[in-house]
Parts: sequence; C-alpha cells; structure tokens
Amino acid sequence: MSALVLVVDDVPANVKLLEVKLTNEYYDVVTAKDGFEAISQAKQHKPDLILLDVMMPGMDGFETCRKMKEDPDISHIPVVMVTALSDIADRVRGLEAGADDFVTKPINDIALFARVKSLLRIKVLLDELRMRDKTSLQMGVLAEGQNTFTQDVSGSSILVIDDDVVQLKRLTERLAQDYKVEGVSKPEGANSIAANGNFDLIIVSTQLADTDGLRLASHFKSQEETRNIPILMLVDEDDSRAMLKGLEFGVNDYIIMPVDYNEMAARVKTQIRRKKYQDALKSNYQQTISRAITDNLTGLYNRHYLNAHLDNLVRQALNNNKPLSLIILDVDHFKSVNDTYGHDIGDQVLKQIADMVIKSIRSADLGARLGGEEFVVLMPETDSQQASDAAERIRKMVESTPIKVAHEVGQINKTVSIGVAFLNEMGDSGQGLLKRADEALYKAKNGGRNKVVSAISE
Ligand SMILES: [Mg+2]
Repeated sequence: MSALVLVVDDVPANVKLLEVKLTNEYYDVVTAKDGFEAISQAKQHKPDLILLDVMMPGMDGFETCRKMKEDPDISHIPVVMVTALSDIADRVRGLEAGADDFVTKPINDIALFARVKSLLRIKVLLDELRMRDKTSLQMGVLAEGQNTFTQDVSGSSILVIDDDVVQLKRLTERLAQDYKVEGVSKPEGANSIAANGNFDLIIVSTQLADTDGLRLASHFKSQEETRNIPILMLVDEDDSRAMLKGLEFGVNDYIIMPVDYNEMAARVKTQIRRKKYQDALKSNYQQTISRAITDNLTGLYNRHYLNAHLDNLVRQALNNNKPLSLIILDVDHFKSVNDTYGHDIGDQVLKQIADMVIKSIRSADLGARLGGEEFVVLMPETDSQQASDAAERIRKMVESTPIKVAHEVGQINKTVSIGVAFLNEMGDSGQGLLKRADEALYKAKNGGRNKVVSAISE
C-alpha cells in the first residue's frame, strides 16, 4: 500500500532514520522539524499518517496533536506519537490529546509497521467516506467544520468479553462511569450478543481459558453485523504475537494487562469517536443520496433520477430484446385545486395521487414525479397491452377514490389523463419514448381528459 507519512522530530538524525525505514517499505515521506511546521505540512499534504515526536522545543507533541485534532481539515489523520518515555502518565496525556497510539524509542520495526498498516487500513475506509461526504458539504447537508473527533461520546455502549470474572468486574465498573456496559464472562454466547447489541466498541481478552480470543475478534471482523464495530484487545505484556496478529486482521487497538484504567479510558474514547465519525459520514452519505434522487413531496423518484435511469433501462431492454413501456400521467384541472384551496391542499392531492400510483405499480416498475402534477411510470418487461391495462387501472383508481384534504370540503375528486408509449426497435431512445408518451398524453387531454391514450409505434 503506497501511502504518505509525515515524520515530525526536532532531531534531524531521528527524522532521517524514520524516513529511511519508511522509504524502504515503499512509503512516501514528508518531514517537519517542529509542531508548527508539522501542522502546516499536514494541512498542505494531507498525509495518511503522522509520526509525531513528543519532546520538541516550542510546541511539544501533545500540544501539536491537540491542535491537529481540533482542525477539521486534518483531524481524521491518524497520529502515532514517538517517544522515549514509557511513562504511563505520558501515554495517557498523548491519548487524551487525540493520538491513536504510541511507539517508544528505540523503535521496534515490526511493531511500528504493524501499527502503520493497521491505521492506514482504517484511513482508507474513512477517506472513501470523506470523499462521498464532500458532496453533502456542497449540498449543505453537513455543516462545514463539524468535527466529530472532539465530540462527547459518553453513553455509548460497550461489550466486554473476559472470563476472568474479577477483572471483568473491575473493567465494567470503571467503564460504567461513562458508558453503557455489558460484561460477558462466557465467551460462547458472545457472538449473538455482539451481533444483536448495536455496540460502539467490543473489548475482548486474548487470555480466555477455553476460547481463542483472537479467533473471536477475527470472527467479529468477518461478520456483517459486527464488522464495523471497533475492537480493543486485552493482551498480556509479553504477548507481542497476539498484538501483531490482531492488528493484522483488523483489531483496532490493544490494552496491555494489567490494565491501566486511565489509558484504557483514553483508548476507548478514541475508538468510539472514530466509529461515531465513520457512522456520521455514512449516514450523511445515505441522506444525500436519497435527497438527490427522490422528490420531497411524494417520495417518488425525481426527474433527475428518472432521466439517468431511463437511459439505462432503454439500453438494457434493447440489448436483451425485451419490451419496455412508459406512461405519463397528468392530473386533470390541477391548477383549479391550487387556485381554489391553496397550495397546501394542492400538495395533499398530489401526495395521495402519487400514493395511488405507487400502490398500483409492481416493485420492478419505477415511479417518478416529472414535476408539477406530472408523473411517469417506467415499466420494464411490459408490453403495450399490459402497460395500457396498468394505465387504465390507475385511471380508474384515481377516478373512484375521493382524496381527503385538510379543508372544510373534506374531500376532493380528481381524475388523470394518461399517455402510454412503448420501446421501438433498435435506435430508439429514452427521450424518444418520453416524447411519444407526452404526445399521447396531449391527445388524451384534447380528447376530453380522464382517458388513457396509447402512442402508435412507428
Ligand atoms: Mg524530540
């Protein structure tokens, strides 16, 4: 995986050393000699990972990291702190500042690269989501500068799996101060609990008596329901095999036993924040998609989507030599509804007619609002007779169904005129189909309305 790493250290020899190591593993490297330069390099190059020295004159690594995490431009970039200190209090300070992990000098290469790879894997996913999310920014769905990396995540839910009942009790009690916690001491049942619990984090011990904790974690990472839940492993201090193995298949972080509770709290918070950020990006994306393709009032597809989809369906039908039909429906004398009762009532009428259309078409059909009081239904694998029959069913349903409105008249009766067209042989187009349906609709209107007219294939 080619990726860009920003190396920050005030000692040139340290920078050089890391640069060489990383370059040998085919990473691209940019460097900075202090915190200020680090921030400007990060903003300019948007690296995939930052290796940040703790002890630097001027602004130290903690402060630099905190500033990076407050900047929505770069807050998503994982930070690994590089330190000579192995003091737990300093590790906690770093994690509190938003660092994703620590490596201690002298740097153990295997541990470093396992870390780097694991963080980069997560970042690839986030980048994909961030890219999609740019659209939402442009559309104003997500407020610019919104930074879920600094949000409060208390109240999130955590599953802890540990058959050491004493340790489990201590962990869950400590976590319960800030989170909803479920402790499981019998790992056999953990799978179904994890799959059904909607957790934001799973903590699993690798030191289980009868179960392989790594296998359990790997199972979570492979299942649809639990794949996106971050996993923190509890590992024995000497068990670097478990650490590396876990990071390799997607465990997000580990806590060394015996557990330091402040460090655990900091790591838990980082993982949950990352997950919430990812969730927010995903849901923004889905909202954007659905807003972009549907009509607000009726919930039908909009004209934009119809046009895109129409061409696809036409191509598909022609290639497979299958029939395709299209109907256009227009509400008769709709203007008088708006004029007499106002636009709110007009909207209620449109919404209910759209509901009738939805009710009378098959799930393979596509209903769209073309604009105003005009609707289109695209019907794949439907010949002219079937399409005319469907149009007639809709016409009758609208004619015979009183429309309830929030007005003293209580209900209104409306009718629709419908034009039907069918796909011709090779060379036909979506726009041609629409045009013929529109001409048929025009004839229905001229012929007295409340009618279905079929276009004659040319
Ligand atoms: Mg230094």
